[in-house]
Amino acid sequence: MLVAALLAVGVPLFGQVAHKPRVIVFGVNGMEWDIIRPLLLRGEMPNLSRVISRGVYGKLRTVPSPNCPKVYSAVATSTPPEQNGITGFVVGGQTANTNMLKEEPLWSILSKSGVTVGMANVPATFPVMPVNGYMVSGMLTRGKNCEDGVLCSPKLSEVSGDAVYPKAMVSEIEKNVGDIPIDCARMPSADQIKGHEEQVVTEWLDNVDRIRAQQAKLFEYLLNNHPTDFTMMVQSCEDRVGHWLYPIQPYNVGYNPKVAAVRVNAFPDQYRALDKVLGKVLAHVDDNTYFFMISDHGIKPLREFEEDPHMHMDHGGTTPVIAKHDFADGDDVPGAFIAMGPGINHDKRLLGFQATVFDIAPTILRIYGIEQPKQMQGHVLTEIFESGAPRAAGGGK
Ligand SMILES: [Zn+2]
Repeated sequence: MLVAALLAVGVPLFGQVAHKPRVIVFGVNGMEWDIIRPLLLRGEMPNLSRVISRGVYGKLRTVPSPNCPKVYSAVATSTPPEQNGITGFVVGGQTANTNMLKEEPLWSILSKSGVTVGMANVPATFPVMPVNGYMVSGMLTRGKNCEDGVLCSPKLSEVSGDAVYPKAMVSEIEKNVGDIPIDCARMPSADQIKGHEEQVVTEWLDNVDRIRAQQAKLFEYLLNNHPTDFTMMVQSCEDRVGHWLYPIQPYNVGYNPKVAAVRVNAFPDQYRALDKVLGKVLAHVDDNTYFFMISDHGIKPLREFEEDPHMHMDHGGTTPVIAKHDFADGDDVPGAFIAMGPGINHDKRLLGFQATVFDIAPTILRIYGIEQPKQMQGHVLTEIFESGAPRAAGGGK
């Protein structure tokens, strides 16, 4: 309600900027440096290597017990879950949705300021809101065989409610991209897996590959045909694979050789595939584009000393989960932060927790010369810029 009212005002805060900076945010659901670093060393993520050598990279401090809706809402509003209202997958018995947001998200502020906005598959953006551009929702979209909207994947034609803004874009996407899955696939249950381990793992991973391919096709289509000043797109399959196919050892909690031995590379393969999608997105990133790659959290094997190591209400169902991210201390599973663009340092590693999920929105607003609203808790990441501030701040030249 609050957001709708704010949007209705529609008054640019600081007037129209003549040449607006271009910002692309590529989000990944669960990017784990422990898995990615060896791949980088072996040259198996050439696109990510290129971005890192031309930019700033490091950990992204997340929130306690992090999960997707919580963290992406914290990113969007630069406020903690208790303040913005999205405290988990389910809030007050209802699946988290945009009507529950108590703080204004970044895309609404940008839209009001005359910045064109394009978003695809960002978690917790269902039902979509009107923006100065387009929005295709992501994780937590409700639909057929996915009534609660939690970690299932309705196709565009099966969605119940508004998954695309403007509505006219639904048929355009169906025609040019296909009847896309809105999110990654639900993980198989323990009953489905037992006795059919090899078949279930193989078929499920094949489906994940298909979903990623369609997601990449959607991103490319939108970047080609609907370029916007601010674009944010999020991939969702990495995390889902890690939860039950993380490459763990026999001494880890929950090790089951029947599942673990089927595709030992399943999880690292997700990042190899991610790198190819990244390459497609980078084709739209020129020297004047600010490019941010972020993830909401990492993902680590279960630990025996947790109160209940297997407890993982958000994704589990009855899936035999062997890795998770909702550890009480979010610092145990930091996300990733990578930035590249005009005036941004090259090959600079951010040590410790210099960047937090709350800093993304203020930093992007500064790039557009928009003042940070009072409620936002983060700070502008001045340390990533060579001169301590984005070149375009305020002027947009
Ligand atoms: Zn997860």
